[in-house]
Amino acid sequence: MTRIKDIATAYLPAEGLQALIDTLRQHHDRVLGPRVREQAIRYETISSVADLPRGVKDEHEGGRYRLHQGEEATFFGFVVGPDSLKSIVYPPRLTLWSMKRSGHEGTIEDQDEPVGSTAILGVRPCELAALAVQDKVFLGHGFEDPHYRQRRERLFLVAVECLQPGAHCFCDSMGTGPGVNGGASWDLALTELVGDGRHGFLVRAGSDAGREMMAKLPLEQAGDGLEKARETALAAAAKSMGRTLDTDGLKKTLYDHVDHPHWEKVADRCLACANCTMVCPTCFCSNTMEETALDGSSAARTRVWDSCFNLDFTYIHGGHVRRSVKSRYRQWMTHKLASWQDQFGVIGCVGCGRCITWCPVGIDITREAAVLQGKPTKTSGRTTS
Ligand code: SF4
Ligand code: SF4
Repeated sequence: MTRIKDIATAYLPAEGLQALIDTLRQHHDRVLGPRVREQAIRYETISSVADLPRGVKDEHEGGRYRLHQGEEATFFGFVVGPDSLKSIVYPPRLTLWSMKRSGHEGTIEDQDEPVGSTAILGVRPCELAALAVQDKVFLGHGFEDPHYRQRRERLFLVAVECLQPGAHCFCDSMGTGPGVNGGASWDLALTELVGDGRHGFLVRAGSDAGREMMAKLPLEQAGDGLEKARETALAAAAKSMGRTLDTDGLKKTLYDHVDHPHWEKVADRCLACANCTMVCPTCFCSNTMEETALDGSSAARTRVWDSCFNLDFTYIHGGHVRRSVKSRYRQWMTHKLASWQDQFGVIGCVGCGRCITWCPVGIDITREAAVLQGKPTKTSGRTTS
């Protein structure tokens, strides 16, 4: 039980992390958190600290992602894997309705079942920023997606600040990390601190629900030293980012460089595989399909993620709008970094670096933008031009 005065900020010793998971499980229908599956860190159901990838480190290179067991016993010493909150609030495949036929009659059933309340442990600051972007797409803009809303409004988010950024992270230059400061509202924020013979978490509440949750945890008073340690660790993390993206004047640069020869160079490498859009936490394009049983007894309408890299994405009445890979890559990057701002009032990239890691040929949005900006490009500590 809580033994502290300031319930908005407190210290949770590492041994208390199980109490947090137990309390989340008592109050929510499901608890998701980072877990190793198929050699990647994914969002999965968790019930114990033993489910977390304790001590696991992730290596990111263009087109390469590997996990290995590190020497530290930290619970959150990795960054983002291929999953993001997108797949939780906006499932990759969703049957919207189905129909059964009986003679000349048909019965239509709504297939989107209520999903219940979901607590998510280990949400990174860039993910909160991406969720805020998705909120604008699915809940703002004069249109509301009911499937998104019913998943979104029953989330309890436990964020974790990033103290060991990956080689492809550039959230510092996007203003979306490494600390939890903005983005979508969150309930609890954890900073994992190791030092002076202690291992634990600085815990902050970001909502009334978060405060109520804190009252149920075995917390200790957080001294000023911990807040100082957090600030120092975050400043070091910001400095050690593997990438940067200069957003100053970037929208104009992209609009002014529609015919830049660099688009052709990128297109020579791009496989139009759509990986970058699948892993991107803000990309939101979808397609709807009608599937009918061969005997005509049933039919269903399904929504699936789609991508502007797919040729058929722009197929309209007999032709494709973007036939070349060059036009599709240019569309993706220009939308993400420039026209997204006109459309939604924010930039469409949060600096998570997933599109660099999961691009099979290592195309790097920060490097491609720097070329268009006429700047030297920095790659994993090396500076090239
Ligand atoms: S464009 Fe790339 S770096 Fe930016 S949010 Fe999407 S996946 Fe992350
Ligand atoms: S940029 Fe990379 S990940 Fe994206 S479509 Fe091209 S090859 Fe695939």
